[in-house]
Amino acid sequence: MQNKIAIVTGASRGIGRAIAKMLAENNYIVIANYNKSEAEAIKLKEELEKKNKQIDIFKADVSKREEVKKLVEFALNKYKKIDILINNAGIDQEKLFQEITDEDWNNVINTNLYSVFCTTQEVLTNMIHNKNGCIVNISSIYAITGGAYAVAYAAAKAGIDGMTKSLAKELGPSNIRINSIAPGCMNTDMNKYLTQEEWQEIKNETPLQKIGQPEDIARCVKWLVEDKFTTGQVIAIDGGWAIS
Ligand code: NAP
Repeated sequence: MQNKIAIVTGASRGIGRAIAKMLAENNYIVIANYNKSEAEAIKLKEELEKKNKQIDIFKADVSKREEVKKLVEFALNKYKKIDILINNAGIDQEKLFQEITDEDWNNVINTNLYSVFCTTQEVLTNMIHNKNGCIVNISSIYAITGGAYAVAYAAAKAGIDGMTKSLAKELGPSNIRINSIAPGCMNTDMNKYLTQEEWQEIKNETPLQKIGQPEDIARCVKWLVEDKFTTGQVIAIDGGWAIS
């Protein structure tokens, strides 16, 4: 057992689930956060416990400060420390800019960006006290390239990358590393609205000619949590899509 404690937000499905699995299978103790998908979270716990891995699941809407506080309190009461925070929970939104309402905007910004502000603030007291910590934020390639019909989402993700770089400077002296991963188009529920033709188009536009899998992101997370000298970076994992 590593004895390293990792919180993964939005771990019930998709990329977060793959990250939680990857970390637990490598003997990190994982607190897998979920919000609506309780059955999927229970399934993940059962699957990992069958392999003798240590995992807790905890329901919290990370866009709400009070629920984030409870998530972090749960981790600290049980394990007394938090070594790793993976800010993965997120939602997308496809809308013409002119049609975005205040409610749409707030929903996307609160779930994708304010959540990262809250979780990071809540874990930091413990990390700073221990002079040890690693935070990985799951951003998006749209933060780098922009995305039509995704203005609120791209703004939230660009905000995350700004936080990543600024916090890396502020917290480096406390031995806390913070990096972002910017995924390209991945095979998860978030993209289930895409047609076969649209998937094919994305493959054609991607130098590696394939769609990313959640495990592609999880491998990079594992590398980042094991690394010692990388901080303030935004790492695109997109099959080369952004450079094409
Ligand atoms: P997904 O399959 O739709 O899963 C989203 C996860 O986030 C679910 O586990 C969901 O939990 C959780 N979540 C959503 N709102 C939450 C909230 N308020 N509180 C707690 N958990 C919440 O999406 P994904 O593709 O895995 O995306 C994961 C991350 O990667 C997101 O930040 C996304 O923006 C980013 N990303 C994805 C892609 C892509 O192509 N898929 C590309 C770039 C970036 P419940 O179901 O339990 O509510």
